[in-house]
Amino acid sequence: MADACLFCRIVRGEIPAKMVAENEHCVAFRDINPQAPTHVVVVPRAHVASLNEVSDAGTVGELALMAREIAKREGIADGGYRTVINTNADAGQTVFHLHLHLIGGRPMGWPPG
Ligand code: AMP
Ligand code: ZN
Repeated sequence: MADACLFCRIVRGEIPAKMVAENEHCVAFRDINPQAPTHVVVVPRAHVASLNEVSDAGTVGELALMAREIAKREGIADGGYRTVINTNADAGQTVFHLHLHLIGGRPMGWPPG
């Protein structure tokens, strides 16, 4: 599964992406179809299909902290930003490697669609 997974292939450098940050736990890159001036996807290096399959608190914590650091660096931390994890069909998950969207740089509505 991990062999063919799109985000595993980006993590391994087999598919190009606009890298934004990386550490031993996770990797962040620009979304190919950005929904806001800042739209970054933060993914764990280790393959896990969705939040439903996560077994430790650290995985999601690392994603959130990396997103926070990127938000600061992009100058959107004070103005505000949104972090989203879509899980399965009703949420619109299309890539089944856990990822956290960091979206900001414009005002956003609530509730989301
Ligand atoms: P989701 O709908 O939550 O599963 O989000 C998947 C996201 O991955 C979407 O926002 C896509 O635009 C994005 N995406 C798909 N392929 C790529 C790619 N090759 N590089 C960067 N982002 C991608
Ligand atoms: Zn994967």
